Amino acid sequence: MSILIRDVLINDIVKDIFIEGNHIREIGEGLVYDADEVLDGKGMAALPSFANGHTHAAMVLLRGYADDLPLDEWLNQKIWPVESKLTEEDVYWGTRLACLEMIKAGTTFFNDMYWHYHGAARAVQDAGIRAAISAVFIDLFDEQRAQDQIALNRKLLKETGRYSDRIIFTLGPHAIYTVSLKSLQWARAFADEHGLLIHIHLSETQKEVEECIHEHNRRPVEYLNDIGFLGPDVVAAHVIWVDEKEIQILREHQVKVVYNPVSNMKLSAGIFPYGKLKGAGIEIGLGTDGCASNNNLDMLETMKFAALLQKISDGNPATLPAAEVFQLATTGTFTAFGLPAGELRAGNLADLILVDLDHVQLIPHHDLIHNLVYAAHSGCIDTTICDGKILMRNRIVEGEHEVKQRAQDLVTDLLRCGAPA
Ligand SMILES: [Zn+2]
Repeated sequence: MSILIRDVLINDIVKDIFIEGNHIREIGEGLVYDADEVLDGKGMAALPSFANGHTHAAMVLLRGYADDLPLDEWLNQKIWPVESKLTEEDVYWGTRLACLEMIKAGTTFFNDMYWHYHGAARAVQDAGIRAAISAVFIDLFDEQRAQDQIALNRKLLKETGRYSDRIIFTLGPHAIYTVSLKSLQWARAFADEHGLLIHIHLSETQKEVEECIHEHNRRPVEYLNDIGFLGPDVVAAHVIWVDEKEIQILREHQVKVVYNPVSNMKLSAGIFPYGKLKGAGIEIGLGTDGCASNNNLDMLETMKFAALLQKISDGNPATLPAAEVFQLATTGTFTAFGLPAGELRAGNLADLILVDLDHVQLIPHHDLIHNLVYAAHSGCIDTTICDGKILMRNRIVEGEHEVKQRAQDLVTDLLRCGAPA
């Protein structure tokens, strides 16, 4: 399968892109290839697609279900009771809905942590995008639960071979306040043994830090360091409440961190210390978090919030400029997962978008990246390509109606069957 995109704008120059298999083979002017499919790129600009560094995709089912509550109450009284009723089929359709939303918003990769691994993996497989997926690991310090989760992860690792290589199996110990020391150490050893990434929530709230100090006499990053958990294969979401010493520890272990500005603001968790982490040379990605705390999966919107929050926090409009935040959502996040994407160049994975330059929010044409980050919403994205396959063209995604209908129907059933209102 090959695709030739003709006469498309790339960094303000009209070029052609030739895609062969799942890679970009060549970018240049006047390319001559006999492609299976030719796309007319006139009036469009080609850009790398986006990567979402932290989410819980199927939580899209809880969009708008519980808002404007404190984190504790939100999780314990609203989110977890409903989640406990979800089946693998629910997670499949929830993740399909999330993938549909991501395709429409130009995202071709996400880092997921949720229940029912196979539901999520099948959905990503069928939707045609990429994901690093973990089965969320929560033992609540109960030995039996820990053993069950360990057995489940061992089994899932064996079974994940049935999926396309667009799906990366990862470990998902939820957080230090939901996973025992022993289980965290098991995750580290298992990751080492099989070369897996570890996805964890870290230092999201002040309460988490206070409880850790009370419990372990150390701050969260020091605790994880002391138990041998940290390493370059750890992707930590949030990382808001860290001090200078903790930042140095994260840097030494080359831990990747993911900034989730919308979720952090909505849950009033705090302000991600972007300048300090960047200054220490820590690799930073960008994420939306789950739809119950965002409430969408739109990376363009996330880029805008990411930049604005840092500007107001620094009292400096020059902080986190458009090109830099665009980089966080593309190469910054893709490279944290070892994926050669996030930049349009020969040899990279064919993950890209075409944006409609005639879209009202992209006019006038001073600077496309500035327009995308500060002005546009995802409606300007006309085409999304992932792994060399066209998943959206003229804003149409195949099977869209069924996905929306199934997701709506299952939520109606779920709430009717006794979940708390
Ligand atoms: Zn999260």
